[in-house]
Amino acid sequence: GATQRPDLSSLKFGTDGLIPVVTQDARTGAVLMQAYADLAALERTLATREATYYSRSRAGQWIKGATSGHTQRVVSVSLDCDGDSVLYRVEQTGAACHTGEYSCFHTPLLAEQAPAAGLDGTLERVYTTISERLATLPEGSYVARLHAGGLDRVLKKISEESGEVLLAAKNGDRAELATEVADLLFHTLFAMAEVGVSPGEVAAVLQGREGRSGLKGPKEAG
Ligand code: AMP
Ligand code: ZN
Ligand code: ZN
Ligand code: ZN
Repeated sequence: GATQRPDLSSLKFGTDGLIPVVTQDARTGAVLMQAYADLAALERTLATREATYYSRSRAGQWIKGATSGHTQRVVSVSLDCDGDSVLYRVEQTGAACHTGEYSCFHTPLLAEQAPAAGLDGTLERVYTTISERLATLPEGSYVARLHAGGLDRVLKKISEESGEVLLAAKNGDRAELATEVADLLFHTLFAMAEVGVSPGEVAAVLQGREGRSGLKGPKEAG
């Protein structure tokens, strides 16, 4: 329902005057980092939309990116249900982690038990990986190479891959079709990441069409 911004004094700061902040990439949904804010840092974040924290190691206000240039433009700020933690949703410049990694959470403790069934989870993961590579452009990365080549080259590649999908389907070559569809989807996800369209936005369009087609079949796009 309609929400009013709660009084900041209702927030449950710890005895040290700090509240945990979880920071999320507003585009990809990835969790970038966890840090702390005091009241002044939170107020500065709300007033300026520059993600501001309290550094416990330096015992002072910390404007993310002030030295590294890896700033975070704040899209939204919310409180959790019991007011003892805060979520910053941000547009991240470069890497969120001071190690140069896109996210601070890059050290696995427990791996996924089984890959997600179906295409949805896989597309989401590949999109997130592409976004991470675009943010950090690591040497030797295919995504970094595609980025350096320019979007037009990738768009041409998408059109070539479409042709290969078409041929594989025409020939009834199942293995070839799976490979070519994968190539097409990958380069399409790359274009989406470059333009900043998330899988969720595409899913919303598809879901909006679900149940509308009836017996007439899907509407011709165009
Ligand atoms: P920055 O805020 O990116 O200019 O980085 C300034 C300093 O803050 C770095 O040298 C690190 O000590 C610290 N720092 C930056 N990002 C993080 C992070 N994601 N997690 C923990 N410490 C960080
Ligand atoms: Zn809850
Ligand atoms: Zn809580
Ligand atoms: Zn980190």
